[in-house]
Amino acid sequence: MARIFAITNQKGGVGKTTTAVNIAAGLAMLDKRVLLVDLDPQGNATMGSGIDKRNLDKTVYHILLGQASGAEVRVRSARGGYDLFPANRDLAGAEVELVDEPEREYRLRQALEALADEYDYMLIDCPPALNLLTVNALAAAQSVMIPMQCEYYALEGLSDLVNTVKKVKSRLNPGIEISGLLRAMYDPRNTLAQQVSDQLKRHFGAKVYDTLIPRNVRVAEAPSHGLSVMAYDKSSRGAQSYMNLAREIVQREEGTQHGEA
Ligand code: ADP
Ligand code: MG
Repeated sequence: MARIFAITNQKGGVGKTTTAVNIAAGLAMLDKRVLLVDLDPQGNATMGSGIDKRNLDKTVYHILLGQASGAEVRVRSARGGYDLFPANRDLAGAEVELVDEPEREYRLRQALEALADEYDYMLIDCPPALNLLTVNALAAAQSVMIPMQCEYYALEGLSDLVNTVKKVKSRLNPGIEISGLLRAMYDPRNTLAQQVSDQLKRHFGAKVYDTLIPRNVRVAEAPSHGLSVMAYDKSSRGAQSYMNLAREIVQREEGTQHGEA
């Protein structure tokens, strides 16, 4: 059964999409079966997976509207080694169109459940908002991963997100947990970043991933080639960090399973 992660933060530009694409590729390199879900109308995870968002018959929009199944929508990222539910600007209309639909919060969950036996990990790249799209991701996920930049306002936004996860847990999805906070685009020379990082560890303890993702130009260049940073420049610090993160995720997951056994 797949483990489902929502990669979310209502702030834009914190590294959600970059993280989603690179851990999808990293987990695939560890021989895991991965499905990446692009749930942002910007379609950046789609383009970053080497799939042209302008040439798609069916996207995740059709899944949410009940017009296509996951099996009909998924495409293969050949270089990434994973499957993708692609997205494009059509998705921007979904929220309004779903208003009167029954079970509108569970549309993605139902599609993922139907494919859960075919994958080890499903990763959902969320839009930068706490909207119905993000609620669909949270209603489907067992784990929430929160990429963040260690800056002053980061902590302020975090409490809104934690409260949203609590509401989803009580109303829609009792199985959801925040699995981890990821320090993305980290600059160790920045004193404020260090202070915010220390504060995060005090508040969230072991929920902060040990792996740090440094700011690295190769990470920023890779998506314009439709590649993960590992495929683009395997020896870069960005590639090594995202590979370490993929390993840390697997270790944590397998650790949990042993703990329960
Ligand atoms: P989000 O999905 O949260 O909006 P993105 O993943 O799109 O954020 O990242 C925002 C911008 O920062 C993008 O241009 C991306 O290429 C760049 N970026 C993300 N992570 C890094 C990194 N570790 N080093 C350098 N640039 C990065
Ligand atoms: Mg994004």
